[in-house]
Amino acid sequence: MKKPPLLISACLAGKNCRYDASSATLSCLAELREHYELIEVCPEQLGGLLTPRPCTELVKERVLTKDALDFTEQFLSGAKKALLIAQLQACNIALLMERSPSCGSHTVYDGTFSGTLIEGEGVFAHLLRQMGFAIYTAQTIEVLMKANTAWCESEPR
Ligand code: SF4
Repeated sequence: MKKPPLLISACLAGKNCRYDASSATLSCLAELREHYELIEVCPEQLGGLLTPRPCTELVKERVLTKDALDFTEQFLSGAKKALLIAQLQACNIALLMERSPSCGSHTVYDGTFSGTLIEGEGVFAHLLRQMGFAIYTAQTIEVLMKANTAWCESEPR
């Protein structure tokens, strides 16, 4: 049976693409692959940023390093490219890494580089939400799996 496409932060899918070249691999990745066709994207890499790269946080409308280097344009460019990849595969759901200045969809760091979290969303998550994507996180995977069951039941055999 055809599996529905799911856009996923590449670091959640095991890629060492985080700023410090680590991953955040989901423990249920194999199960997720059974239910979804995963489309792995790292918007920061797609924006041309290297791995490893400096740590960044959202500061008002910009994406800055602690030393105030401005990576906003790279983040925006990578988010648009990742969106296009999803759209080409008719994907409208995403599973995103929380707290990232790109992929964070509920919480992000507050821009003081002190480890303080606030409510907010990263550049990529914001774009996806504007485009009507349903966004899930590692904390809401169970809901995502239920959505898959509903999709399978409605799909013609
Ligand atoms: S941009 Fe997204 S996919 Fe890339 S490392 Fe950061 S959280 Fe993971």
